[in-house]
Amino acid sequence: MKLHELSIVKAHTLLKAKEVSSKELTQSVLERIAEVDDRVGAYISVFEEDALKTAEKADKDIAKGCIGPLTGIPLSVKDLICTKGFRTTCGSKILENFYPPYDATVAKKLKEAGAVIVGKTNMDEFAMGSSNENSAFKVTRNPWNLERIPGGSSGGSAASVASNMCLGSIGSDTGGSVRQPASFCGVVGMKPTYGRVSRFGLVAFASSLDQIGPLTKDVSDCALMMNVISGYDPKDSTSVPEDVPDYTASLRQGLKGVVAGIPKEYNSQEGLDPDVYNAVQDAVRKLEELGIECVEVSLPHTEYAVAAYYVIAPSEASSNLARYDGVKYGFRDMSQDDLINMYRTTKSKGFGTEVQRRIIIGTYALSAGYYDAYYGKASQVRTLITDDFRKAFEKCDVILSPVSPTTAFKIGEKIDDPLTMYMLDVFTLSANLAGIPGISVPCGFSKDNLPIGLQIMGKHFNEQVIFKTAFNFEQATRFHERKPGL
Ligand code: GLN
Repeated sequence: MKLHELSIVKAHTLLKAKEVSSKELTQSVLERIAEVDDRVGAYISVFEEDALKTAEKADKDIAKGCIGPLTGIPLSVKDLICTKGFRTTCGSKILENFYPPYDATVAKKLKEAGAVIVGKTNMDEFAMGSSNENSAFKVTRNPWNLERIPGGSSGGSAASVASNMCLGSIGSDTGGSVRQPASFCGVVGMKPTYGRVSRFGLVAFASSLDQIGPLTKDVSDCALMMNVISGYDPKDSTSVPEDVPDYTASLRQGLKGVVAGIPKEYNSQEGLDPDVYNAVQDAVRKLEELGIECVEVSLPHTEYAVAAYYVIAPSEASSNLARYDGVKYGFRDMSQDDLINMYRTTKSKGFGTEVQRRIIIGTYALSAGYYDAYYGKASQVRTLITDDFRKAFEKCDVILSPVSPTTAFKIGEKIDDPLTMYMLDVFTLSANLAGIPGISVPCGFSKDNLPIGLQIMGKHFNEQVIFKTAFNFEQATRFHERKPGL
């Protein structure tokens, strides 16, 4: 096995035993990036020199016996997490030359843990999208099939993990952007409970929905990264002062006594790729064999989730993105000689089509006279959806569903049809509306060899039961061991 192919847990064992150095590991990852990233396009920036320096420092710490689970481990980070002094573009022309003067809390935690950040990954502009085609810089390709999208908006992160261009990655999930690309690229991705991981220094898209989460090669690595990034942060007023359990401790507990809810509203074959339907059915059966008890639950307001999300997310985005006015940050169009026109052309040239579409929808939905009919109504629907989950979780510990109704589609196939693209988020965005945690874990392959993900959702702040369900499933099926032939 080549060093860049290792999981975090295995690399840590070798580092600790001094059988490999972080420098060798990092070099191997950098060579892998040089070998395949011109085909995949997962990275916007690679910090070769800095990564090697950090790796050398990690090796010195390890020599002194100072080693934590992420010391010396090469990781990638989605390009909307502020990294002090290192370019953070958010996939947008408007932030093309933005060098943050501070670290996001998550970046700080990774650095303090001794992790080596090798680069920043490509993404849909401002995290708006499901295919990574909305990046202002480049297309990212799915390592399993280079004609296909990797999913979005954390598609660069998912592709970088799937093609071994890092050992693990950090993404963000506002309506599915960690779980959906994880599912399309055959890796593990978790969206934690809202408030579990600090959003300080995460470039805001829709503040009441955004959560940072890890993408990894397996469930153990995911639990391990969650241990490092979780926890209360006084700099994020929505972060919750709850104790963080050791997520790796719950993995090996059996599934006896765990009850899984199967939402009847999700259980129709309509609009669902038959390969996805079958893989998820098989996964449910497998979990039953492993000791889980399945019951039917109901999430009656599911059909309104997409509509509510696509009012709330653009509304919050329109407010958050007002700050990019050509004055305070980033790109300014210099062709105008008065202020109002400078604002206008800066935004027209700085933002891509999808971002402009969302700003227009959001501004409309929030405007006087329309607020109650749109944002207000969507917020009421959001409460009903949250309540659906609360009631369902009276009967079960986890809820099982597909992550996406399809596997990775072709580049260009849906980009001109935003509504169809929005509909594909049907299984993931309810978790963001309700603030609950969810994971995507590989559960099979389509006939054309594309990965499929199983979604496991849990109650607020009960990531542990999700992890143990996912871990038991992974160990029994081992889909995560299949790798793309890049
Ligand atoms: N696809 C969804 C959107 O476009 C979700 C994106 C995300 O989670 N960042 O809004």
